[in-house]
Amino acid sequence: MEGGDLEYLVKNNFTKLPLQQQLKIKSDGRPTPKLELCTERRKGFWTFSEENYGCMEWLAGSTKLQRLFCWSCLLFDKDSWSLNNPWVTTGFTDLANLSWAIERHGKSKNHIDCAVKLKLFGFVRIDVALDLAKSISTKKHKEPVKKTWDILMRLIVAALYLCVKNKQAGGTTRQLAVQTGAVLWGWYMHLQSLTAH
Ligand SMILES: [Zn+2]
Repeated sequence: MEGGDLEYLVKNNFTKLPLQQQLKIKSDGRPTPKLELCTERRKGFWTFSEENYGCMEWLAGSTKLQRLFCWSCLLFDKDSWSLNNPWVTTGFTDLANLSWAIERHGKSKNHIDCAVKLKLFGFVRIDVALDLAKSISTKKHKEPVKKTWDILMRLIVAALYLCVKNKQAGGTTRQLAVQTGAVLWGWYMHLQSLTAH
């Protein structure tokens, strides 16, 4: 990430960056800088404590913007950029409601999807997987079909978890897990593109 600040990812779409840069950003991890953030209260101020970063593995901060963001969603929830989601767009600043907002966001479907994508990213060959996904023809669909796709996506995510587990094994088990993971990821991305319309 250029400049080492989250501002770069607020301005640039992670999913459009070159693969090598994406992998570096993921391995560098979320920035958890000291912030001067504070919110006025009746008597005095709420101030931001870095201990908050320890509460949630996705909580990240920008020194330049002096705001909090969701690391997982900032990387993978590009669709929310146009929605009113401060964890991805403007950044979160309301310390009076921080605990509540963290809990609410952490349980949201979008966030959980992004957290899964972040966990799996780099494990599967994304470039190969995306090519696979593109090669599968797209067809118009009806609502019941969409529901079936949704169920399939959930099953794929479950299977991917098993692949991640087997990746830790050695020899052919690991190889098989990586290959299977790539195919499953391709299907997941493809189904997601279909259900997004
Ligand atoms: Zn999130």
